[in-house]
Amino acid sequence: MRPPSVDSLARSLSDIDLPPPLLVDAARTAISNGEPESAREEAVRLQRALLGPAINATGVLLHTNLGRAPLAYSQPAKATNLEFDLDTGTRGSRNHHAANLICRLTGAEAAVIVNNCSAAVALVLAALARDHAVAVSRGELVEIGGGFRVPDVMAESGAQLVEVGTTNRTRLADYQTAHQAHDVALLLKVHPSNYRISGFTEDTSVKSLATLEVPLAVDLGSGLIDNACSWLRDGRPPWLGDEPAVKQTLEEGADLVTFSCDKLFGGPQAGVIAGRGDLVEACAIHPLMRAFRPGALVLNALQQTALAYLRRDGDAIPFWRMAQTSVSELLSRAEALGVGRPIQTVAMTGGGSLPGEHIPSAGVEIAGDISQLLRDADTPVIARVQDQTTVIDLRTVDPSDDSLVADAVASST
Ligand SMILES: *Cc1c(COP(=O)(O)O)cnc(C)c1O
Repeated sequence: MRPPSVDSLARSLSDIDLPPPLLVDAARTAISNGEPESAREEAVRLQRALLGPAINATGVLLHTNLGRAPLAYSQPAKATNLEFDLDTGTRGSRNHHAANLICRLTGAEAAVIVNNCSAAVALVLAALARDHAVAVSRGELVEIGGGFRVPDVMAESGAQLVEVGTTNRTRLADYQTAHQAHDVALLLKVHPSNYRISGFTEDTSVKSLATLEVPLAVDLGSGLIDNACSWLRDGRPPWLGDEPAVKQTLEEGADLVTFSCDKLFGGPQAGVIAGRGDLVEACAIHPLMRAFRPGALVLNALQQTALAYLRRDGDAIPFWRMAQTSVSELLSRAEALGVGRPIQTVAMTGGGSLPGEHIPSAGVEIAGDISQLLRDADTPVIARVQDQTTVIDLRTVDPSDDSLVADAVASST
């Protein structure tokens, strides 16, 4: 029998929601593999390789592989005042919308928004310390997932790293010695987001570093905005531990802070540099800013998140809504699923923040490893497997997805 033509095979797939050129690709691959009957499978594979929704049932709230903080956002296909001053009718700055709200939230004099926190750190170093020395504690020369290594970023930005103190103990005197020997242009304190040093340790506080006559930049990473957590009904949750916040770090004397917007801030992927006006301005006018600036979609999503904070409406920020759901509510949802066995679980923030901090949670467990079958569901469900048991943690599942989870489990068992 002659194999079908590529075109007729592609046409037979027209019920699959992919543009014709991709259906043709699937048909061609199947025919060249000598298996025309696999064309449908190929097309589905192409479809699943597209960016799409997934249900995070891992219990890791800020799952980096699942896009960190979940966020709903849409905007009309209309022009915006992105860089237009409505009062004067002349050119404005894209840095005066969300950035001003971040200042209002944190007490910073000025702020600038870039694509992520890595870009924020790189820009601070390039703008303030190119060809100058930057002092960093040996205990803070960290790698923060995905290959972001402080010494490497430093080298790329043209700043010279001066290592201070030891891995476990660094004192103010160590910074003073480094400053005298190297004419340091900037002190960089890096929050060791994803690991902890314990035992015989000593760290130099922001307050005491601020007493030195050198600008102090603190890379906070996680972006907890304010210690008080006034946007949460029950105030600061215990699992935040001693996580430092942006507002208080600035109050303690940091000249600049940098943080991610899609970690504890719960917004879109972006990064913020906030603090002293002249230093922020030096970053904002640096040539790299053009390469690092986000577009209106991101700035608009960030603005919405910032407005939710100002309204003290943590429930409007999906990350915080999920984080503060009570265990009893999660347990009743687990029972209502009607599949698996309801259990208490342990969730975590993830995203390279708060290692070792546990958030009490609940979900269901199912005997055996059904994780692959769950991933094959129309809306893939990503679960956790431990000791040949599949665990669905509901803390990270939006309640409107519970029925999809129940269906996926029911058809996998
Ligand atoms: C997460 C993190 C970064 C990197 O942030 P991205 O937004 O992922 O680029 C940098 N520094 C610290 C301390 C972090 O925790």
